[in-house]
Amino acid sequence: MWKSAAAAAATGTKTSALSKSHGASRTARGHEERRPRCALHKNGRRAGAGHDAAAIGETKSVDAARCFVVGDNASGNITHHLARRYARDPSTFANVSLADLIAIQPIYASEERTPAELRLVGAPPMTKTPLSSCPWHLAGGKGEEGPLAGGEGEEGELADGEGEEQVPACRDLEPYIHRIADGDSSPLLTGKPVTSLSLSSGTTQGKPKFLPFTDELLETTLQIFQTSYAFRNCEYPIGRGKALQFIYGSKQVVTKGGILATTATTNLYRRARYKEGMKDIQSQCCSPDEVVFGPDFNQSLYCHLLCGLIYSDEVHQVFSPFAHSLVHAFQTFEEVWEDLCADIRGGVLSEKVTVPSIREAVTKILKPNPELADLIYKKCTGLSNWYDVIPALWPNAKYVYGIMTGSMEPYLKKLRHYAGHLPLISADYGASEGWVGANINPTLPPEQVTYAVLPQTGYFEFIRLEKPEGEEAENSASIHYIESEPVGLTEVEVGKIYEVVITTFGGLYRYRLGDIVKVAGFHNSTPELRFICRRSLVLSINIDKNTEKDLQLAVEEAAKLLDAEKLEIVDFTSFVEKSSDPGRYVIFWELSSDAREDVLRSCANCLDLAFVDAGYTGSRKIRAIGPLELRILKKGTFKEILDHFLSLGGAVSQFKAPRFVSPLNVKVLQILSRNTTRSYFSTAYGL
Ligand code: AMP
Repeated sequence: MWKSAAAAAATGTKTSALSKSHGASRTARGHEERRPRCALHKNGRRAGAGHDAAAIGETKSVDAARCFVVGDNASGNITHHLARRYARDPSTFANVSLADLIAIQPIYASEERTPAELRLVGAPPMTKTPLSSCPWHLAGGKGEEGPLAGGEGEEGELADGEGEEQVPACRDLEPYIHRIADGDSSPLLTGKPVTSLSLSSGTTQGKPKFLPFTDELLETTLQIFQTSYAFRNCEYPIGRGKALQFIYGSKQVVTKGGILATTATTNLYRRARYKEGMKDIQSQCCSPDEVVFGPDFNQSLYCHLLCGLIYSDEVHQVFSPFAHSLVHAFQTFEEVWEDLCADIRGGVLSEKVTVPSIREAVTKILKPNPELADLIYKKCTGLSNWYDVIPALWPNAKYVYGIMTGSMEPYLKKLRHYAGHLPLISADYGASEGWVGANINPTLPPEQVTYAVLPQTGYFEFIRLEKPEGEEAENSASIHYIESEPVGLTEVEVGKIYEVVITTFGGLYRYRLGDIVKVAGFHNSTPELRFICRRSLVLSINIDKNTEKDLQLAVEEAAKLLDAEKLEIVDFTSFVEKSSDPGRYVIFWELSSDAREDVLRSCANCLDLAFVDAGYTGSRKIRAIGPLELRILKKGTFKEILDHFLSLGGAVSQFKAPRFVSPLNVKVLQILSRNTTRSYFSTAYGL
């Protein structure tokens, strides 16, 4: 199943994303079997039902100009060496152009182990070394040192984990990505050299990660966007209006090896092909490019709002990649709206905007318009606490669009407040690594949104996660999961929880995305996934295990105590304090305004009790974990964290407030400690 689908992807075989059969035929057991289009199989013969050993390139349906070679076990070794020979001298393969190699559990070992192999016996991931020898015996390769034995015939090659049976985690690919960043243009992860890198947000660790960005990834992005647009536009047609978009290019850095690295969104926005591909489905942004790519985020945001107001009647949708930046934009609007009115009234841009390129571009579209300024002023002063501000000022907007699931859920309440009756539509599901699914049910509220996987955008596997026996938890996130072997796209089961593993056109191979999803159903043959949370445990001291989702639920529970006081949590994060014994959870809150002491004490207790994971409650009762501490932050602390993130080269539209701060993230910890004004310890489990 794996080889054939990958080969189909490599040969550019078009499977209709949401087609019923997904290029597959059903076996008697009801399982799907995919037919390889172009896989050099054992002995270099073309595999495929009903064909004998025709040489590759002889069949019309095979695109020999782009193919993978695939092999498992000993064939993995053979295909590896075939690929190496090809790399050395492609001209020896007259009709074949090799795009890549897929090695499935290849056997590289010789029966008599090399010193490097011996050092690895019993060590992860080589725990099954003796077992791995069996096929070698069967293959009769005793003591071979020729081209079919050993990875490269050199010591140490296996240390890269080539024979590994586990699904590699992202860190396994990191050394390769660093080699690419340092200028190694040999085909490490992809056939063609990688010429751009994306920077993932890395908000928890405080360290963005490099990831390959390729033309093929750009195309898959377009496919995802075009698919969800088609479904969205059926429900909410928007015609050819404009979009109020809070989008920002981020800084670009050139790596040691001369490769351009920036955020995935900037990589997209800067490509002419992206603009061309989006032309028919994207409303024109109100702001000129100089605003999008301006060097100062605050000035860009101000001008996005200004341009949005200038074209207010033409705006048909409001968008930002993540809900956080939408909320942030309208919180800023509350502060600067009078300045915006003044600019529109006089036709002169505020002196706060100092970047010459932005000033020049915005000045061209800013003309004195006292009527519009009066209208905006009247509408703003007529609003109650900014409720409904979006439809009031942008009366033709049909919806608000951006990612609203996962770590963006805590912003939904505020976003609904600003959007009033307008539908909130969650944008698609993906990562800097690659895309996973499109929102093809745009009428669902964000809390119920699912993402249909687009099979042609990569190769997807899913690691089933199960509750350990006897562990009953109301909320699915507070469980230490037992993992099963990865299953293919069509083998997932409705109602079950999985971790997503992707193989991308950017060269990531069986990459664990670190996200937990639930299969909500199928759209024809492709699963519809509900995003649950990031896999990583955020809060854990000993046997307790709480994820980002558990933290979110606990915070939501405690926030109910603030509702009566008309207070809101602007943002929150957490930390595990282990410098004292016993360790404890520390939760940081930034509030919309001051709260009474007694209310905050109750909140600390409520938070402590809201972590229902048995490991936590048990440890609290026996005092193996100390009382939870709630720390209140000065207003503006999360803004400072955002500024810090931007200073690292991140883009505001990619920002996800870190829900957990690792001890390594020293800068953010310093910001939190400098801004803590009060602290409350829970008394929920006694002292
Ligand atoms: P980054 O690569 O920094 O943009 O972050 C990618 C991560 O953002 C994913 O692995 C998810 O955890 C999260 N993410 C992306 N899209 C969604 C979505 N639609 N819903 C929930 N979380 C998402």
